[in-house]
Amino acid sequence: MARTLILAFEPSEAVSLTGFAAQLQQPFDVIFLTGQAPADIGAERVFVANLDQVAPADATAKGVLSLCEGYSHIASVSSMRSKDILARLASLLGGAMVTDVVSVESNTVYKRPILAGSVIATVEVLQTPVVLTVRPAGFSPVSGNDSASEAVTISSESVVTVVSQTSRGGLRPDLTRAKVIVSGGRPLKDSETFERIVGGLADRLGGAVGATRAAVDAGIAGNELQVGQTGKIVAPELYIAAGISGSTQHMAGIKDSKLIVAINKDPDAPIFQVADLGLVADLYDAVPALQALIGS
Ligand SMILES: Cc1cc2nc3c(=O)[nH]c(=O)nc-3n(C[C@H](O)[C@H](O)[C@H](O)COP(=O)(O)OP(=O)(O)OC[C@H]3O[C@@H](n4cnc5c(N)ncnc54)[C@H](O)[C@@H]3O)c2cc1C
Repeated sequence: MARTLILAFEPSEAVSLTGFAAQLQQPFDVIFLTGQAPADIGAERVFVANLDQVAPADATAKGVLSLCEGYSHIASVSSMRSKDILARLASLLGGAMVTDVVSVESNTVYKRPILAGSVIATVEVLQTPVVLTVRPAGFSPVSGNDSASEAVTISSESVVTVVSQTSRGGLRPDLTRAKVIVSGGRPLKDSETFERIVGGLADRLGGAVGATRAAVDAGIAGNELQVGQTGKIVAPELYIAAGISGSTQHMAGIKDSKLIVAINKDPDAPIFQVADLGLVADLYDAVPALQALIGS
């Protein structure tokens, strides 16, 4: 049966995938693993698992397996977590997997970036079900009436024991979902300077903090903050790049951003070729001046 199931690890993910589901032109249902279902996203069936947190990938894939049977398409927002879980799910269902979908050509043909985003591949899937991770920036959310939600129980029995979890992001928004990101590069010198300059501006704007691989490799920023080909793929409304040259590997992670603002003291820095707004300035002058303008 041609029918889509959206797996929402967090409620907002379902909203951002409604545009993708609409383009498949078939009915869709949603499983909300955590949190409450937002109203009026147009789902025919709404399943609410009400988990405190998403279990490790092996457990989640097995836990949702029976609910996924019978669907032609199963989709989640692209993230490290969704790729981890959906790859296992595709294997358990004997289906095909396509990651990082940016547009839908038909129910079997999709576009996705390859080679760090420098080439867009068109791929055709000849197997069902199709398990997809989707970059929501390419799709505008749509609304519609929902059915009443149904409670479901999802087992979380895992062979993995989570010993501890650490995050250096503090209370800042998650990079992959943030609307505003301030990122810093190699010239930030050390972690204290990075936190004061980049973190300070991010906090003023209520945004997340990102970094280049050069900054991560130099110990200026944590691994989890790396944006780019081998880091996180982001799609904020506003991306501020301070002291970032604009390597192809970094740009691969930010090109879905709606507005890119670059601050760089070199007017010939490659990032100015892709930035929407550019400021040729020393970041040590420009960023504190911006912070002062915004106020506390
Ligand atoms: C296989 C592979 C994968 C990679 N993956 C990634 C990835 O995922 N993400 C990533 O970011 N990189 C990645 N890289 C590394 C990438 O090639 C670049 O080396 C890196 O992005 C450069 O980081 P940067 O812009 O901070 O540093 P630099 O290239 O050194 O640029 C620093 C910039 O800051 C400017 N600047 C210096 N001082 C100031 C100042 N005071 N005020 C304002 N501007 C100043 C300079 O003009 C320069 O443009 C990868 C590389 C490889 C080979």
